Amino acid sequence: MQEEEISEIIKNIINEKLTQNRNYILGATKKYQILTKRLEKLILQAMKYIIASITNSDFEIVGNEVEFRNQKDYPPIMIDLDDGKKVEITGKIDRIDLAKGKDGNYIRIIDYKSSLKNIDLNEVVAGLQIQLLTYLDAVTEKQEDLIPAGVLYFNVIDPIIKADKNKTDEEIEGEIKKQFKMQGLILADVNVVRMMDKTLEKGASDLIPAYLDQNQNISEARSSMVTKEEFKTLQSHINKVIKEIAKEIYSGEIEIKPYYNQKKKKTPCDYCEYKSICNFDPNCNSYYYIPNKEKQQILEEIKNR
Ligand code: SF4
Repeated sequence: MQEEEISEIIKNIINEKLTQNRNYILGATKKYQILTKRLEKLILQAMKYIIASITNSDFEIVGNEVEFRNQKDYPPIMIDLDDGKKVEITGKIDRIDLAKGKDGNYIRIIDYKSSLKNIDLNEVVAGLQIQLLTYLDAVTEKQEDLIPAGVLYFNVIDPIIKADKNKTDEEIEGEIKKQFKMQGLILADVNVVRMMDKTLEKGASDLIPAYLDQNQNISEARSSMVTKEEFKTLQSHINKVIKEIAKEIYSGEIEIKPYYNQKKKKTPCDYCEYKSICNFDPNCNSYYYIPNKEKQQILEEIKNR
């Protein structure tokens, strides 16, 4: 499809949505109409890179907005607690992709985000970023021939490029491309990397967080990857985290203990609407600190837990 054709389709979908519901705020005033135009531009831009990431890979979309719920695409995720109680997790994932490999079918989970997001294993261990790995686990455990290939965020953003006047159009396009590159974790397997980016010969991939060195090996330092075993370690750790959270919910534990991410220097209290109600005071209450550890240290620690 040519860009003009894609643009036409996007415009039609947006118009259709706006006329479907007359109370839709995006059609209400001139200001919102301009915002709609910007949104249209943003979607078109993102769509260009989403299409490139699909056409340049062996992965194919097997489901969009896949729901884990009774009578939907997958049943709810059931987790058995030690005391016989059960936890049922329902939810939706943006996209599931599949590629047929020599030793099985590879599965990757994609989540669209409206802001720059990446996977931080420190947050995964703390129970904050467990959504994608939980769904990956749920999908792969049902069918033995499915191999986890990755959990990735596609950031649907309006990229702003810092550029001097001397930059060529190609260079600017290259900078934009970098911002649309998917972020997250991929399987440390050069064949899978090539299946995700068929154009990659060496160096950094434009599509996924992978880097191939001169000898066509994946560079550990410049890629965001985990081995099959490490994927398993992470998935079993997340299972434990969910059980712990469920136990706390069942026991009525509601201690005021917001997280504090030491690397990002970030806490949810900064933008929380309930500040005046909960009365959290860093001088009296304590934070749940999320450390800034390296990947190998994290994986080693959770393996031995
Ligand atoms: S302000 Fe209170 S309710 Fe909000 S995140 Fe912080 S501790 Fe939680």
